[in-house]
Amino acid sequence: MISSENLFDRARRVIPGGVNSPVRAFRSVGGSPFFTKSADGCRLITADDRELIDYVCTWGPAIHGHNHPKIRQAVAEALEKGTSFGTPNPYEVTMAELLVELVPSVEKVRMVNSGTEATMSAIRLARGFTGRSKIIKFAGCYHGHVDSLLVKAGSGALTFGNPDSAGVPAGFAAETIVLPYNDETALREAFASNGEDIAGIIVESYPANCGLILPKPGFLQTMREICTSSGALLIFDEVMTGFRLALGGVQEVEGIKPDLTAMGKIIGGGLPVGAFGGRAEIMDCLAPEGKVYQAGTLSGNPLAMAAGIAALQLLKEEMPYNRLADAGAQIRDALLSAAKGKGIPLQVPQTGSMFALFFTENTVENFDHATSSETGHFKTIFHRALEAGVYLPPSPFETCFISTAHDKSAIDRTCEVLTASFNF
Ligand code: PMP
Repeated sequence: MISSENLFDRARRVIPGGVNSPVRAFRSVGGSPFFTKSADGCRLITADDRELIDYVCTWGPAIHGHNHPKIRQAVAEALEKGTSFGTPNPYEVTMAELLVELVPSVEKVRMVNSGTEATMSAIRLARGFTGRSKIIKFAGCYHGHVDSLLVKAGSGALTFGNPDSAGVPAGFAAETIVLPYNDETALREAFASNGEDIAGIIVESYPANCGLILPKPGFLQTMREICTSSGALLIFDEVMTGFRLALGGVQEVEGIKPDLTAMGKIIGGGLPVGAFGGRAEIMDCLAPEGKVYQAGTLSGNPLAMAAGIAALQLLKEEMPYNRLADAGAQIRDALLSAAKGKGIPLQVPQTGSMFALFFTENTVENFDHATSSETGHFKTIFHRALEAGVYLPPSPFETCFISTAHDKSAIDRTCEVLTASFNF
């Protein structure tokens, strides 16, 4: 057996920080990361032969749990035919048809290889379509590591206390207007002073990279109205929320049609996939139809499409959203009652199969509220839970995900472990 410790030692010599994505390094909770050698259902099997109930779910994609037999079979069948063709392939058409069928605002869609590519391409398209250059984003929202969006970004960028990355020219960031989430006045003011220059608003439809923050009633509707009246495009980043909260994502739940939608994670069934789509009139501005260039050697890759199609079809067949939401509510209630029993202030924002923990008295409505909450308790709970076999995201500013493979015994066990870990 090669231990996690040994692998991490080797990794650090040849990979910056020993990881291929920063939050994996456990910097914000302390300690060293474990390595996973396999995963099945709701469990990870570590290199040290520990079994962990997993609430990271590969950072969102694994809504069916790990290694689902139907997804594996779809990939195996595709693999028989070849790994990449460099020409259009039939899977891409099925995938696009599914996304157009299921996501309310999407009339045409283009596949890419990650969520980052999806948001990057969506904002380029918004700029190309409108002929304007400024983009509004909200503090704490993470849209991948796109240069101009790494301003007050959430997820790993926030975790490291360095929201603005080195290497992003000031001129790029200058095209980004950052506003506090849930602040209608700030939004109106930004449009009043820059309206003619604003190509679009990009927003995590439910921000989930700074813990989990839910919109105040009407906030998303206001965005829609302002964009429509000023000629800017509304871009929903549903990379995390798409297919997680409903087949049609937050736009279905809230009944709001963005102009463009960025997608990723679940639509790849665990393989590297992203997509962006929206109104046909806008999407037709993309090359080769239009003047906005965007391309990808492996975009629409047959293995990735096969995995994603299988994942989406499973969701259509099973419609697991009520069941997932019940599991989310059970964990939320267990956490809240454990905290209450100990007199510890805790907020557990939860929607469907997503939840997060904020150690604070008040509802968290924005980035400043989130970052001023207490983080030490989370670190303690994280390590106690890990010790007892429950893996939460290794940062106080990430969202936990539940999969359909988290059965009753896994959820009950999780509630037991989390409750016991509230012993401060
Ligand atoms: N947008 C959102 C909302 C995300 O959560 C993420 C990744 N966590 C991204 C974009 C970037 O996706 P990727 O890591 O696949 O590039």
